[in-house]
Amino acid sequence: TELSSLILDRIRDVPDYPQPGVLFKDITPLLADPVAFTAVTEKLAGLYQVDKIVGIEARGFILAAPVAIRAGAGFVPVRKKGKLPSETLEASYDLEYGSATIELHRDALAPGERVLIVDDVLATGGTARAAVELVRRAGADVVAIAVLMELAFLKGRERLADVELHSLVVV
Ligand code: IMP
Repeated sequence: TELSSLILDRIRDVPDYPQPGVLFKDITPLLADPVAFTAVTEKLAGLYQVDKIVGIEARGFILAAPVAIRAGAGFVPVRKKGKLPSETLEASYDLEYGSATIELHRDALAPGERVLIVDDVLATGGTARAAVELVRRAGADVVAIAVLMELAFLKGRERLADVELHSLVVV
């Protein structure tokens, strides 16, 4: 589709970042193009009717904030451990080497609120999985996860079988 090529033409492959052997998908060219950034924002904002958009640090924030405004929803950050000032819920997940922990403010979501989780790239799905657990532990409903790009070969979707997952492009 037109939106797919608008996205695909503006994502740059960076070899060996952040480590040798990884082909990093760099979304900064897309963000720098106002037509593409607006199209992506409007598409994501129109997918679901929700109360809150949860953005995942850091690139998820860049997408989630304009989506929240456009959707008439609130913005809620999920951050890496130690960055949120008030009381938090936390969830850990495995990385290739070691593990990572993300946090959500305990009072950021009300029970029963409808939530869309937004991030830039779905890779192994570990980050999105942990974000789903945080939102559910806060008592809110995960309506869906929406990402700009899904890296299908990493099979992240399999770890999210119990959640609606919408990817604007799948590569
Ligand atoms: P996962 O937990 O393995 O699915 O990795 C997803 C997280 O890592 C997301 O928060 C992404 O922002 C980031 N990420 C992983 N691979 C890439 C990439 O190629 N480009 C940009 N972000 C990536």
